[in-house]
Amino acid sequence: MKYRQSYWEAELYNQTYDLIVVGAGLTGQSTAHFYKKEYPNTQVLVVDRGVFPIGASTRNAGFACIGTVGEHLADLEIDSEAKLKERIKDRFEGLQLLKSTLGEKAIDYQETGGWELVLDKKIFEKLSRHIHRFNGWMEELIGEKDLYEAGSYNGIPSIYNRCEGMLHPGKMIKRLYQLNRDLGIEYRWNTQISSIEPESGILVIDELLSYEAENLVIATNAFTNQLLPDKSITPGRGYIFVTNELESLEWRGTFHYNKGYVYFRNLGEKRLLIGGGRDIDPKGEETDEFGVNGDVKGFLLYFAEEVLGLPDGWKVEQEWSGIMGFTESKSPVFEKINENCLVVAGLSGMGVALGMQLGKKAASEV
Ligand SMILES: Cc1cc2nc3c(=O)[nH]c(=O)nc-3n(C[C@H](O)[C@H](O)[C@H](O)COP(=O)(O)OP(=O)(O)OC[C@H]3O[C@@H](n4cnc5c(N)ncnc54)[C@H](O)[C@@H]3O)c2cc1C
Repeated sequence: MKYRQSYWEAELYNQTYDLIVVGAGLTGQSTAHFYKKEYPNTQVLVVDRGVFPIGASTRNAGFACIGTVGEHLADLEIDSEAKLKERIKDRFEGLQLLKSTLGEKAIDYQETGGWELVLDKKIFEKLSRHIHRFNGWMEELIGEKDLYEAGSYNGIPSIYNRCEGMLHPGKMIKRLYQLNRDLGIEYRWNTQISSIEPESGILVIDELLSYEAENLVIATNAFTNQLLPDKSITPGRGYIFVTNELESLEWRGTFHYNKGYVYFRNLGEKRLLIGGGRDIDPKGEETDEFGVNGDVKGFLLYFAEEVLGLPDGWKVEQEWSGIMGFTESKSPVFEKINENCLVVAGLSGMGVALGMQLGKKAASEV
């Protein structure tokens, strides 16, 4: 429905904001949060195309994690050691900031520890040989001694990381939204930005409606190329399902398998959440459309049944997808287009840990 604004609406809504953030995921809402805290007398607006954020922030697995040995080794094949170390530190500090800003209780944070399961004996030996090296990194980066430890979980060789945990992504976003509303930040839901004019600080919705700001932050993660086609962020769909209540659940904590491509955790006392498997059909999952890929789902069903040995009577009770934004090296894009417009996107599947920290950094740079 297109309409012209009335005199009254124009007078009310056509102000020039100090800051407009596009994208109400964790990154965008955190940007608005820290900006408004720093400059309480400014007008700050967050816009999102959804009735609530519809990307990754409320559709993820809720792992508060800093990376497994297998993930670090895979990352070293596409990024430098210096960059990877910087990212690990950012993930750790991002999680501390998230917990202190929102409160652990409000987001159901639990420090359960995390296990990387390794089914192949040779791969387990290889990963175990690197534990000493990555423990050295962790001591240097986050001050934790002997973080990784080889062992087994339910008879499967595993590497344990005691500093990982889980949270409730819906509660995380709800809490941040409440804090932002209390700070006086404005929101426009159901507002798809169709193009931006970074030079003049204008966000175009349609031919009759636009918003204007002194500063713009684009926090649209996987969908950034729709607004800024040269940013080379590749979308990657992630699939998750949750089981019914099980008679017995023998998996408690957070778990990764195959460089982090598969992940699962307990959800309360009786349910299991399991997700991932993008590597089963990498091209098919390189999409910004929500949906379920039968091959990915088939693999995760097999994994749950045959590897995790879920008890008789288990079934999928709920399933969904979310869209991640990947950069080639997995390091996020954090870039000023000009003095007044900044892009922060491409959190490459690590945004629960990185999102708030990056938002805070964006707020300090616009
Ligand atoms: C299935 C899945 C599991 C994951 N599991 C984990 C995990 O366990 N731990 C972890 O650390 N990370 C995980 N992630 C990644 C993490 O969720 C993301 O990195 C993080 O949420 C990114 O936050 P964001 O705010 O940058 O982006 P998003 O949350 O994607 O927010 C972008 C927002 O921009 C809006 N938008 C886009 N285009 C426009 C437009 N043109 N106009 C207006 N609004 C627009 C969208 O509606 C969306 O709300 C997972 C992701 C998925 C999909």
